[in-house]
Amino acid sequence: MKIELNGNTLELMTGDITQQETDVIVNAANGTLMGGGGVDGAIHRAAGKDLLKECKQVREKQLNGEKLPTGKAVLTRGHNLPASYVIHTVGPVWNERVNNQEEQLADCYRNALKIASGEEASSIAFPSISTGVYSFPIELAAETAIKTIADFLSDHHFGHVTIVLFSDNDYEAYAAALKSFTND
Ligand code: ADP
Repeated sequence: MKIELNGNTLELMTGDITQQETDVIVNAANGTLMGGGGVDGAIHRAAGKDLLKECKQVREKQLNGEKLPTGKAVLTRGHNLPASYVIHTVGPVWNERVNNQEEQLADCYRNALKIASGEEASSIAFPSISTGVYSFPIELAAETAIKTIADFLSDHHFGHVTIVLFSDNDYEAYAAALKSFTND
């Protein structure tokens, strides 16, 4: 499924984000930037050991040894990936007692898009941030991702945004959110 917005495109597909030949792919990292399971592990495996080395440098130099806070994003090269760059962002861990967690999730998408624009990238692929181990409800995550990306595209000439879903169920949730967005 694909829509056009202000001369940009927003597309949903199923697949493996590590195979995407976009300028940038986004990693749903954890604050340590030292790799992990899920999409983070897959990206580090496909990019090779130099990605971890660069992440260590980012921690030391850009973050003064601190963890990357939730909602923030940092840039590295793509190393052995087809993508030139990886933007690492930390999604919120779902907690039903916390209000407005979708704002933190929206920050992930917004900050990644801002960094990508600054690098003059014109294509970016996102995974479904926070809906794996971090347990964010898929419908709310899909609605938040689509609204945030669409808001950004309606204000910027960026190019092409793809959301790469890892299962048919996830794809259906994002497709439903995109349909209700376009019908509004
Ligand atoms: P989080 O910790 O942010 O929840 P996860 O990596 O656990 O991150 O999951 C985020 C989403 O990424 C999940 O929907 C998961 O199925 C998906 N995923 C895992 N591997 C890949 C991959 N290679 N390409 C695209 N999506 C992936």
